[in-house]
Amino acid sequence: MTVKSAAERTKLIEAGKRLGLVLSELEKAVRPGVSTETLDDLAEKLIRDAGDEPCFLGYTPEGADRPYPATLCVSVNDEIVHGIPNESPRTLSEGDIVGLDLGLSHEGFIVDSAITVAVGKTDKAARALMDTTRDALRLGIAAARPGNRVGDISHAIETAFKGSGFSIVKQLGGHGVGAAVHEEPFIPNFGRAGTGPLLKEGMVLALEPIANEGKAAVAVAGDGYTYRTRDGSRSAHFEHTILIEKDETLILTRRPGETES
Ligand code: MG
Ligand code: MG
Repeated sequence: MTVKSAAERTKLIEAGKRLGLVLSELEKAVRPGVSTETLDDLAEKLIRDAGDEPCFLGYTPEGADRPYPATLCVSVNDEIVHGIPNESPRTLSEGDIVGLDLGLSHEGFIVDSAITVAVGKTDKAARALMDTTRDALRLGIAAARPGNRVGDISHAIETAFKGSGFSIVKQLGGHGVGAAVHEEPFIPNFGRAGTGPLLKEGMVLALEPIANEGKAAVAVAGDGYTYRTRDGSRSAHFEHTILIEKDETLILTRRPGETES
């Protein structure tokens, strides 16, 4: 687990600000009738216009047999994560919930963030799923302090879902980030407090609770990327890149006007 230098932290703070801006523009572009490919094109344009690079495009995660073909991951309703926006584009409909997951590289420094947003008005159950998952991220961030352990983050996230009826997706979780898209440690969204690697000042982590409305079981589509719920229920995902400082934890990818985390 790497601790970032002061110079690296400064770059990552700038990278996070840029990603927060792009994600908030994408959030505004989500409406009925918009295609997932349009969102992907917009994400790539906004990142490149600012002089940065998309970092999912062309990236081959561990276990994948081809590079990811887009800038943005767009996961609609029962798609959990890593939905490909530009190969079989979907058109968003009123009431859908859509996960937008985006990473960028600013002068070689990488940050990662995701939101799930409703397309127009959605139902109460979908709102509860999104609210609970967003709250889990907030609680996970609050547990990310020097002297705590990775298990404290995991436990805080898990606790947020207790009694909700929603299921945590156990195969997926948070990770270190900064010099690469995925760094050590893996951060499960469930676990025991007081266990796991020690958190230190200067660590940069992507925390990302992911939960299903129904059962936890997942299936990966034939495209090799798209995770779906097996039972067809909807799924939500929120992610921030954070920097653990001595006295506070900075949310690097906070969006303009964001109040919830
Ligand atoms: Mg992400
Ligand atoms: Mg991530």
